[in-house]
Amino acid sequence: MPIRRLTLILTLSMFNAHADVVIIQEGKPQAVIITPERPTRVVAYAAEELVRHVEKACGVRLKIMTENEVKEGARICVGPCRESRIDIGKLAPEAFALRVTDTAVFISGDDGGGDPLNADTRAGTLWGVYEWLERDLGVRWLWPGELGTHVPKATTIIARSRDETIAPRFFQRRIRPGLGFESEHPALGFTTEAAKQYSIEQTVFLRRHRMGRSYPVSYGHAFTDWWEKDGQTHPEWFQLRDGGKRGPTKKNGRFSMCVSNTALQREVVSRWTAKRPPDAKTPAFINACENDILGLCECENCRALDAPAPTEYLTYYPPTSKMAGSRFVSDRYANFWLGIQKQAPAGATVVGYAYFNYFSAPASSIKLNPNMLIGYCPSAGWFPRSEAEHAWMKLQWTGWSETGARLFMRTNHLLDGYCMPFLFTHQFTDEFHHAVKHGMVATDYDSLTGHWATQGPGLYTAFRLHTRPEASADELLAEYYAAFGNAAPQVKRYFEYWETHTTQSREKIATTMETLQTSRWRNWAKAAHVLYPPECFTAPEALLEEGSKAVANDAVATARVKFLQLGLQHAKLCAQVSAKLTLAGSTASNDEIKDILHELLTFRRTHERSGISNFNHLAWVEDLSWKLSEETKQTPDLFP
Ligand SMILES: [Zn+2]
Repeated sequence: MPIRRLTLILTLSMFNAHADVVIIQEGKPQAVIITPERPTRVVAYAAEELVRHVEKACGVRLKIMTENEVKEGARICVGPCRESRIDIGKLAPEAFALRVTDTAVFISGDDGGGDPLNADTRAGTLWGVYEWLERDLGVRWLWPGELGTHVPKATTIIARSRDETIAPRFFQRRIRPGLGFESEHPALGFTTEAAKQYSIEQTVFLRRHRMGRSYPVSYGHAFTDWWEKDGQTHPEWFQLRDGGKRGPTKKNGRFSMCVSNTALQREVVSRWTAKRPPDAKTPAFINACENDILGLCECENCRALDAPAPTEYLTYYPPTSKMAGSRFVSDRYANFWLGIQKQAPAGATVVGYAYFNYFSAPASSIKLNPNMLIGYCPSAGWFPRSEAEHAWMKLQWTGWSETGARLFMRTNHLLDGYCMPFLFTHQFTDEFHHAVKHGMVATDYDSLTGHWATQGPGLYTAFRLHTRPEASADELLAEYYAAFGNAAPQVKRYFEYWETHTTQSREKIATTMETLQTSRWRNWAKAAHVLYPPECFTAPEALLEEGSKAVANDAVATARVKFLQLGLQHAKLCAQVSAKLTLAGSTASNDEIKDILHELLTFRRTHERSGISNFNHLAWVEDLSWKLSEETKQTPDLFP
């Protein structure tokens, strides 16, 4: 026998050493689920999630038993069962092993003991179950709730032979859930019960996309209460402004720190040390993020640390931005973080934000190191961007990454767009890919606004990239569209229409926001009618109508197209309300206000369980966008 042929046979027989395991055969269960005698909450929940999704695929409920009850036969062992021989103690945080042998599937990972739905609970076993559901059942979580849970129908389910150990790519995966929005006009938001349902479904969804983290890390504007506590005794720690005064320039105003002051650096470390339990086992993070303001200290020592501003430094900030005319201070902040690190115990990580006038990459050759974690947080760069702007934004990431620091994504761009069909999926994905290629270790996006029916493909892609960071936008979008059955082509064209609309509106968005004095993240509903005039809805309405005809015999796809239609109807209505009530020049009479709000509130009460949008986010935006009535100040449980 020729040698080459022999090799082939050997390879095949080695491959066959582990065979596939049949879980369901022609609608009949062939396997049970096994857990340890006393499963943790994570393991018990992982087993239930497995049962739920298999049942949705084929209508069969697999039994959950414990390892002492079942010794043989096909089985899926969830969690650290004795026979699994997976040494979970050796796994990386939140990692799992997925091993399929002749008769058993083993899924076991690094778990914490807490609530499986809490983002701080390590849940490797649960991640293993989700990985298996995605791979062997083709499950995709499009949006929260039952309708958005895509499980292809199957009569036979087979666990494919494999033996893999997988750890999350990012130690923290976070899109802030956006469940805390509050408004002075709560009638525009959810009733209590609807909010509860929305919150539960979204929390489950976030975990299905493996949102969570390997260990606690806290950071954020670090010095907000320092002036009040220490301004009298240590004014030298604070910014020097206006020819010699330290601290805020007006009473209760924001302030930045005198970051060149080594005593301040020492104080940051000693306060951190005093709070840290001596027996703490989790990684050490020292929060050194500047307050929510530009770096403003004008003292000689701070200024001496500044490198000359790059020529294009302010190119991509609007002339009315706080950044206009600002000094370039990235190098002094890099120096600040290094100074803190020098005083800190070995191995501790210093966390800083690259933000405002310390967002651009440093211009000197300052070297940082992996024990610095820097949050990339531009105060501009909203999507859609021009090509040049997009390239510049990415260049700042590269620059920080080349200092040797570790980076995490901490942008505010997902707050943009209100509930309009506002999509920038391809550019967002490109930025994500760039960050992954240049050392991104974590994410913390602010925030998920939850407009699933109008911005669904963008949100789906953003979540999915956290577990499939190399996938292209088009691959991920194809998964999303496929869930619409025969309407997939129309749904694809529908969302492409809106992404094009968004991209082409770039200049118009910038001008409108300037003219109407509207903020991208806070009161978008002042401008919605200008950016989404009635005529832009006609073509997409027709596309969805066509889509709904294509799926007439498919109940699930029909319901999903209906979901998109509802979102569009709602967006169109909101744009109409904006036209009438915008604070940028509403002349509506009290009766007109009442009528149009009545229409909107009736819509929201009727559809608040549909999951199309986080209405509480909308109430929060509309509050500062519209001329409203006293009536909307009532609770939605009573009004209308
Ligand atoms: Zn200073």
